[in-house]
Amino acid sequence: MKERLYKPSVMREVLGRHGFHFSKSLGQNFLIDGSVLDQIAEGAELSKDDVVLEVGPGIGVLTQVLCERAGQVVTVEIDRGLLPVLEETLSDYDNVEVVFGDILKLNLPQLFEEKFRGKEVKVVANLPYYITTPIIMNFFEQKLPVERIVVMVQKEVGDRMQAVPSTKAYGTLSIAVQYYAEARIVTTVPSGAFFPSPNVDSAVIALVRRDRPAVDVKDEELFFRVVKAAFAQRRKVLPNTLSSTMGIEKGLLREALAMAEIDPMRRGESLSLTEFGRLADAIGEVLA
Ligand code: SAM
Repeated sequence: MKERLYKPSVMREVLGRHGFHFSKSLGQNFLIDGSVLDQIAEGAELSKDDVVLEVGPGIGVLTQVLCERAGQVVTVEIDRGLLPVLEETLSDYDNVEVVFGDILKLNLPQLFEEKFRGKEVKVVANLPYYITTPIIMNFFEQKLPVERIVVMVQKEVGDRMQAVPSTKAYGTLSIAVQYYAEARIVTTVPSGAFFPSPNVDSAVIALVRRDRPAVDVKDEELFFRVVKAAFAQRRKVLPNTLSSTMGIEKGLLREALAMAEIDPMRRGESLSLTEFGRLADAIGEVLA
């Protein structure tokens, strides 16, 4: 079926024929704007050499574009009710495979090995917003061979991903994403680009994985513990928040802050990634 699935008349017809009912709890808002689909594909810089993992095809609006521009597409959908729909809408493409399952529960290393055999993968998706952050963090933390992630997210989440220190949007998500990747908003998307339209604006964000993390840290797990602790009480100065959230004595924290050359009157929200790296290494040293 090569009709453009994003067109409201085509979508209505397909949904009606299959008696499909939208599930709000699964974040089912389908794209009905062709220019946004083009921008997602362009943000992903797709070519026929690329292998793509999509999360949540819905009726296949974005999948169709991916099949036409990439070499191979594997798409993971939780809603088995979409099986007959996707069988029909993707029937003209021989480079796509639909896997039914919950992306958060699938064994991703195994899926990657079975489907992509060690190749670098591009993840492209119009994500269900209720699980955006865990999905993205899973790809990074599990050290999967993902070279680029281009996803539609809630606009506010996109802002958090590319936020800089001392802004309201800056937090653990900004640090986690920027540690692994360079983040760039490709475009913002009004709610009218979806059917049914959600009550938030959205953004397409491109995360290009760095060859190596943005900062060299001795202990990655400790680094992320320090970051989370520093933002747990973001209005407090560092010795106060870190002592209560990490259970480390204030004297030791002051020692670590001096070693890292960070003023103890500063709040976590003002620290750059490099400063968090220095602080985590210094805390590791004073605790050793
Ligand atoms: N890609 C389509 C589009 O752009 O029109 C649909 C996007 S819709 C925002 C999100 C899709 O993700 C839905 O099809 C929904 O059923 C699916 N989904 C929700 N939770 C999921 C999960 N945990 N694992 C896989 N797919 C999921």
